[in-house]
Amino acid sequence: MANPIFHLYQLQKLDSRLDFIHDRIFRINSILGSDARIRQAEEILAEKKKIHHELQIKLREIEEIIKEKRVKIEQSEASLYGGGIKNPKELQDVQKEIESIKSNILRIEDSQLEIMLDLEIAEKNVFSAEEELKSVTSCVFQEHSQLLAEKDALEKDMHKLTQEKNATAGQIKPEDLQLYENLRKKNKGIAVSIIDDNCCSACGVSLTPAECQAAKSPASLKFCSSCGRLLYAG
Ligand SMILES: [Zn+2]
Repeated sequence: MANPIFHLYQLQKLDSRLDFIHDRIFRINSILGSDARIRQAEEILAEKKKIHHELQIKLREIEEIIKEKRVKIEQSEASLYGGGIKNPKELQDVQKEIESIKSNILRIEDSQLEIMLDLEIAEKNVFSAEEELKSVTSCVFQEHSQLLAEKDALEKDMHKLTQEKNATAGQIKPEDLQLYENLRKKNKGIAVSIIDDNCCSACGVSLTPAECQAAKSPASLKFCSSCGRLLYAG
């Protein structure tokens, strides 16, 4: 325990790397937990399928109406040519009715054609949305496989660094460790600042030659007069 600041600085370096790894793992977990792009592509596909389905129902309804009208024509024609109706006025009425139903069918067939064209477009839209979902999913999975590999590597590093951290902490007096932890909490994770070009590298303040000299002494711990962190002369 000859030079406490040296070990505290080693501990700081390990903790800074561990902090970085923790942040990165947290970020990866949040990415893995939310696939906004896949969700969006699924929503679009569901919407396109709904439109397609509604058009199919509409088309079936129209086909049914046309079928009913054709049956009605067949029945009227049967009575017209069956010889059952003798009255000319009645025969004329039936003929008129048949004509009216036929022109009605023609109008309905126009809207049937429109729906068929819309249905064709809707089918294409469903296909495109399916293709888009496939492509987005494969892209996201590709990213995920890289992220999963990265996370795996980070966890291995974290395990190794934690072992090094425990070994390093074992060489530091408990009261110094306590001081270090308190400073880390107060100063965004940085308790020990290395002196760089006569400045505190953490806060940037210039240090006097006497302060720099004092920080080199292994006898006692020195603090930055500006940010309060421990100073390490390097
Ligand atoms: Zn400072």
